Amino acid sequence: MNLKQLDLQHLVHAEVHFREFYRKGPVVIVRGEGSTVYDTEGNAYLDAQGGLALVNIGYGRREIAAVAARQMEQLMYYHTYFNFSNDAAVMLAAKLAELAPAGLGKVFYTLGGAEAVESAAKLARLYQRAKGRSQGDKIICLNEAYHGNTMGALSATGMAKHKELFGPLVPGFLHVPAPDRFDGPFGYDDAEAGAKYAALVEERILAEGPETVAAFLAEPILGVGGVIIPPDDYWQRIRAICDKYGILWIADEVMTGFGRTGADWALEHYGATPDVICTAKGLTSGYLPLGAILIRDTVVDAIAEADLPFTHGFTYAGHPVACAVALANIEIYQREGLAQRATDTGARFIRRLKERENPFIGEVRGKGLMIGVELVAAPAGGDDTAGGRSRVPGLGFAVEAASFREGVITGVAPYREALLLTPPLVLTDAEADRLVDVFDRAIRTEGERLTQG
Ligand code: PLP
Repeated sequence: MNLKQLDLQHLVHAEVHFREFYRKGPVVIVRGEGSTVYDTEGNAYLDAQGGLALVNIGYGRREIAAVAARQMEQLMYYHTYFNFSNDAAVMLAAKLAELAPAGLGKVFYTLGGAEAVESAAKLARLYQRAKGRSQGDKIICLNEAYHGNTMGALSATGMAKHKELFGPLVPGFLHVPAPDRFDGPFGYDDAEAGAKYAALVEERILAEGPETVAAFLAEPILGVGGVIIPPDDYWQRIRAICDKYGILWIADEVMTGFGRTGADWALEHYGATPDVICTAKGLTSGYLPLGAILIRDTVVDAIAEADLPFTHGFTYAGHPVACAVALANIEIYQREGLAQRATDTGARFIRRLKERENPFIGEVRGKGLMIGVELVAAPAGGDDTAGGRSRVPGLGFAVEAASFREGVITGVAPYREALLLTPPLVLTDAEADRLVDVFDRAIRTEGERLTQG
């Protein structure tokens, strides 16, 4: 049997409708270089999804492989439980504290994003208990949020459809509307949109009782939800609200960190600092699995002062090989100025795609190389009644399939007709221009096909 047949027979894929998968069959990737991956048949794909929004430094860096091999030979494992640690975990923690906003000097390791979110939520509850707020266990999140698929992270995730078959979920995770000016109640024409969306958070805190709330948890720019970019003043307002009620603010920067939006952290664009940052993905660019939470020192201090035990951890947390790889990844990210490159390439892509005046594009928006393309009915097409902004059901996945036929892998926001583009930050100008061509063509062709039928 070849690899595809073995895959079909034995490998259970993530996020899949089994029947559809059996019909389509697998794409088995066997090699990667720069922004391109290759399958078993030697077909090349320009990866506009960047793996799962994480291959920031690009595929195929031999330098990283050498670092991993060296670390494995020297020390392949030691944990970070009790009073033990390992040299690579310590070195990376110091580096992350240097990269983090001032005041966030503590690092706890996980294996990925969902575990980072779980850890942050548990830490927030522990912190409130340390502060004597024994009822403070609720975590307020956003409706369109994605935080991962473990039970706690799934409970924090909004997107009701994503979780409806897995209940009962973890109690205490509540949701309020995301600051979505494209689809939400307060649009771009509303100068008060930031204040109004932030007020929804405060109203919920007051309705629940501030003493019952441990934390507000959100992505600075929502990713899987469709690259939802909050108004400029939203995060500073959230900071003030959390301070007012003694609530921790947890920023899920799992997708947005390490240059994705053109800065180390997306919140830098907003001049606001959270109490906890969740990170993963770009932390290693996917060369090995690793996540972390960066924690405000005073949060750990409060737990220490109250002498509460941090009975939490993962066997592989602070894995020395993953930490050594992360350090090498960050070194490349900084040396090659990839945050700036993301800013430049992202701006070029957005400008050029807008110039195409594609009638099925409602909006192209993004920061750095985190870009959303809203797909809508053409002004005279579909069941359009709202100024060309009604949706064409299925257009997102149709564009994904059409682009794939042209050798481009595309991300799609699963519950919104929008493309979610997160290519490697090393994407060249020529590759960005090719993406403009392929998406413009695929969106027109599929938009016309789906609205004329
Ligand atoms: N948080 C955000 C913002 C994410 O985008 C993701 C994954 O896409 C996660 C958490 C979950 O990360 P993981 O799949 O590593 O558990």
